[in-house]
Amino acid sequence: MTGLYIHVPFCARKCDYCDFYSLAKSEGRIHDYVEAVLEEAKHYQGLDFNTIYFGGGTPSLLGPENLERLYSGLRKTFGFEKILEATIEANPESLTEEFALSARNCGFDRVSIGIQSLNDGELQSVGRIHSSKKAIDAIGIAVKYFKRVSADVIIGLPRQTKSSLLSTLSKFVEFGLKHISTYCLSLEEGTKFYQNIPGNLPSDDDQATLFEECRDLLVSKNFHHYEISNFAISGEESIHNINYWKCGEYLGLGPGASSHLNGVRFKNEENLEKYIGAPLSCKLFEEELAPEDKIFEEAMLNLRLLENGADLDLLAQRYDPESISKLQNRLDELFQDGKIEKNGNIYTINSSFVLVSNPIFSKILSG
Ligand code: SF4
Repeated sequence: MTGLYIHVPFCARKCDYCDFYSLAKSEGRIHDYVEAVLEEAKHYQGLDFNTIYFGGGTPSLLGPENLERLYSGLRKTFGFEKILEATIEANPESLTEEFALSARNCGFDRVSIGIQSLNDGELQSVGRIHSSKKAIDAIGIAVKYFKRVSADVIIGLPRQTKSSLLSTLSKFVEFGLKHISTYCLSLEEGTKFYQNIPGNLPSDDDQATLFEECRDLLVSKNFHHYEISNFAISGEESIHNINYWKCGEYLGLGPGASSHLNGVRFKNEENLEKYIGAPLSCKLFEEELAPEDKIFEEAMLNLRLLENGADLDLLAQRYDPESISKLQNRLDELFQDGKIEKNGNIYTINSSFVLVSNPIFSKILSG
């Protein structure tokens, strides 16, 4: 399985909490950005992909014309015959009928909308520019044009209550969404929030309780919690993202995009102007993990898949017995501590530790 990721680094406005690489007020550079992506793509000409994901940033800001030019250029460069899923991210303010039609005509069958909340006060408190009405209109457009629709929600927004969070989720379910991503608000360096921390954020304990309420509601509506931040009705899971968690291969194009191809990990610099000037000279790093390190990274990613977990029998097909034994020791220690569960040779995160999984991952990576 190989995925293609396109990073679209444009946003109408920078949200107060966001540390993704994206730039506001740079729409004038979209045309040149598209040319640069197509130039970078040529370097990998002939690759076949199974999934496509346009993420950002705000891919819906590309508008129909740039989207069509970019997608058709990529289709001429790569093999798209075996595509199983093509996802585009969109924000409510730019998901118009015209854009949705153009994305569907290109070949996108899945849209992921950055809604975050259906409460206007919560949206304004983090600098989102859409209203709940605009978000509901966007869901209407999405379900009309795409077979598969996902929406994001943020847990732990200023003044968010159990009732406002569950109301947002219940409306998502009522509108027929079958995939919901839930992200806990965190304070990241370099963001507006980090410089000016709002006083009305829920505590960590309150955030954990909200997460559990959210999980209980979605599970009661037949969603299954398949990844730390993701819930889906069976069959609606993101194939592209599952490939990341299975440690599969992917090519990322665009400024800031990461790749894992032929066993090598590399990432482009987060610098739009440099990328536009010379897209092939923007590598920030390139590294090949030694097999004795790679097994730990793979097990850590596998554990994010809460139901599948890390399967030692599967890993033993590709790694030597000594590496498997080292990994098993680390997993068994976590099992003794009650942080992970064990069923035969399959290890999964204990559901009480899903929100505090970072120490589990550190233990697996560094022993
Ligand atoms: S729309 Fe998304 S990518 Fe853009 S600034 Fe807001 S959170 Fe970040």
